[in-house]
Amino acid sequence: MISLQEFIKRSPSPWHAVQTAIAVLKEHGFAHVRESEPFVSDRPIVYSRDRTQFIAYIPGTTTSAGFSSVQSHTDSPALRILQNGELKSNGSMFTVPCEPYSGPVLSRWLDRPLQLAGQISYYLNGKLGFKLVHVDKFGFIPSLAPHMLRGTDQKDWVPENGDFVVCTTGDYKDKMSISEFAKKIGEIPAEAVVTAVNLEISAFECTQFGNILQCPRLDNLASVYASIHGLVSQMKVQTPHTRMICGFNNEEVGSQTRAGAEGPFLINWWRRVSGLSEKEFSSSLARSFAASADGGHANHPIKGAGSCNDPVPVLGGGMIIKYGQKQNYAFTDHCVSVAKAICLSNNIKFQNWIGRSYKMGGGTIGNIVAAGSDMNVVDCGIPMLGMHSCVETCDLQDVEAFNNYCAGILMDSCKVLAQAHEEMME
Ligand SMILES: [Zn+2]
Repeated sequence: MISLQEFIKRSPSPWHAVQTAIAVLKEHGFAHVRESEPFVSDRPIVYSRDRTQFIAYIPGTTTSAGFSSVQSHTDSPALRILQNGELKSNGSMFTVPCEPYSGPVLSRWLDRPLQLAGQISYYLNGKLGFKLVHVDKFGFIPSLAPHMLRGTDQKDWVPENGDFVVCTTGDYKDKMSISEFAKKIGEIPAEAVVTAVNLEISAFECTQFGNILQCPRLDNLASVYASIHGLVSQMKVQTPHTRMICGFNNEEVGSQTRAGAEGPFLINWWRRVSGLSEKEFSSSLARSFAASADGGHANHPIKGAGSCNDPVPVLGGGMIIKYGQKQNYAFTDHCVSVAKAICLSNNIKFQNWIGRSYKMGGGTIGNIVAAGSDMNVVDCGIPMLGMHSCVETCDLQDVEAFNNYCAGILMDSCKVLAQAHEEMME
């Protein structure tokens, strides 16, 4: 299995992340099928939707036993090139208009080398085409010197509204349309008509200090990686229940899309794979378990973590299990207990991330999946600093703990859940 750093390097956009996930799973023996084909239940399968979401599963021997799962998301906050608009020349540079996707820490995108990656869709000779592109060292966004902010109440300039442009150099022209630019970047024939442009601007540097890793997209590619790691580590073992991992798209903008966690995708997948009657289907869901895997805030050396009760999890202290009375994370006594039982029986170091009920915090796909699919769900992940920044910071020891935890969830959560339900008479 490739390292987390390599996985992130090969995943500069959600489109690339899904492509990398499929490639790694295929290397480990998964067959890639199309969603429109019949789903088989006799071998490990991976398939994708909209090229930005994927499901991979190892079928169990008894479909009525339900499924265990680790569910994460493939998208991260970034800047994206506008679908229309035009380039402008500025001396030896060209500016390309862009806009934020979700909530990036915008000041961190300034004055640093940025890459461009994503997908360009086009129509050529009566056919549609889809091209993944990745340009390393594409450009930069200059900040404003403090001299230019005198007389305003701003200390540092942060782009807003129509301010977003990325500067680049190359064989472009003043007033070149985004479609022309996309054709040039994607090496798409001039006679093609560009039908959609989805290109992200993000950082690419990965730095390691001992066990501390600073890298783009740790939220949430660290979870996507851990879920794949957990699944491929169990290829040779058979279980009665099916083991599944899923990377949804659009978590960062609310999940209400076809490839997002709020749609019927998950239930439809299980209906098709299990082939169970309506009656058996519902009881199999009651036996199924989902770990919603996403990053959580670690203790900042000066500021702590506003929305988390003390003690706030620290880097290197172990993976985290997230819950609290606010219910912004999926929280039931028995699901949190199943997660902790798996940590305890596998010697996995974990920390509790307990949200303050009176403080606004983040959210995940956890409750979206729990409320929308009837499943038993727990929220978990790795602690990180600088979440939504251009590069985020984590500890590789926590990543390793989380890799092992994902393997434990996939292998044992249905069994531990059954014991809990027995005790609860449910
Ligand atoms: Zn996230």
